[in-house]
Amino acid sequence: MSYLMNTYARQPVTFLRGEGVWLWDDAGNRYLDALAGIAVNGLGHAHPVLSAAICEQVQNLIHTSNIYQVQPQESLAEHLCRISGMDKVFFCNSGCEANEAAIKLARLYGHGKGIATPTIVVMEKSFHGRTMATLTATGNRKVQAGFEPLLTGFVRVPYNDVEAVRQVAGHNHDVVAVLVEPVEGEGGIRIPDASYLHDLRQICDANGWLLMLDEVQTGMGRTGAWFAFQHTDIVPDVMTLAKGLGSGVPIGACLARGVAAELFKPGNHGSTFGGNPLACTAGLTTLQIIEDDELMGNAARIGAAIVTGFERELAGVAGVKAIRGYGMMIAIELDRPCAELVKTALAERLLINVTAENVVRLLPPLIMNDAEAGQLVDRLSPIIRDFLSRGGS
Ligand SMILES: *Cc1c(COP(=O)(O)O)cnc(C)c1O
Repeated sequence: MSYLMNTYARQPVTFLRGEGVWLWDDAGNRYLDALAGIAVNGLGHAHPVLSAAICEQVQNLIHTSNIYQVQPQESLAEHLCRISGMDKVFFCNSGCEANEAAIKLARLYGHGKGIATPTIVVMEKSFHGRTMATLTATGNRKVQAGFEPLLTGFVRVPYNDVEAVRQVAGHNHDVVAVLVEPVEGEGGIRIPDASYLHDLRQICDANGWLLMLDEVQTGMGRTGAWFAFQHTDIVPDVMTLAKGLGSGVPIGACLARGVAAELFKPGNHGSTFGGNPLACTAGLTTLQIIEDDELMGNAARIGAAIVTGFERELAGVAGVKAIRGYGMMIAIELDRPCAELVKTALAERLLINVTAENVVRLLPPLIMNDAEAGQLVDRLSPIIRDFLSRGGS
């Protein structure tokens, strides 16, 4: 019996300690972590430089208030703007809060243009969080069911379908923004056409809409660049971050550029904890380590090696529909539901995830090395082959 609300289907394992890509449970067993706390622990576990910086900050100050100047918040904002090309940052504590800020920006922007019912274009199979506004934006009925009435002010189109967005532009004059993931994470690591963001940028520019990228999962080096949009020739008007930003210390951020950066005025938005010294020190140190240790290059190289490894081991195996990767976002799509693979892998001391029912999703720490990547491929491939050959459910 647990006193916790029944919100998670938890695996029956308790971790007590971590180091790099490894975790140890309460019986002393060692696990290879290919999920990184769902794209949070980019630096792996117990990174010594991060731990030291956090300890030092805690001994100094954890929290003051946004009533006062907060120095680490100023520094982190400056650093984030420098690497992203954005102008201003609002700090909060999670991905859904970062998206809430983006949605509020879009609505303010619309009202500023005299649109009484501003509307945001969102995508099928998207995930933006579990607050009321972000679950409304999310393209997954399971996330919404039971929580109606949903918000108004959203219109949904298929992902990777530029024509559908053009059609909305043709008849809906309340649209003020597009909110989209550069790669759909929870939706199954869906990678759009190379021209997708470029085309969305053009439509947004032609119609005076804000292009708002949810980089909560793709950001912070995971795809081999700081932010996924940097693989393209565009810059968004608004970008949201969280997951990997604080390496496990809760922090989210909504970044904006141009007119979008000037919309919020005192009293429009805020957060008690958002951007406190502890969270911002974790963020700043995370950025420094990613830079110093060249983890983006590592993510690109190791991610590609993992995909190549799975192609060698699994391509052509009956039941394997696709193997795809974008840096350290890796998917093996099967032709059948495969949620039970999480448990099978756990028994083999391997931490993986299944999303969108039939997609094995791997989000390894950015620090993973060649030998560890080889182990991941060598250990997971037989588990998948065995599952498929048993005619797994
Ligand atoms: C995880 C995720 C969120 C939600 O983040 P929380 O911190 O759980 O609120 C939003 N968008 C994307 C793309 C995500 O992957």
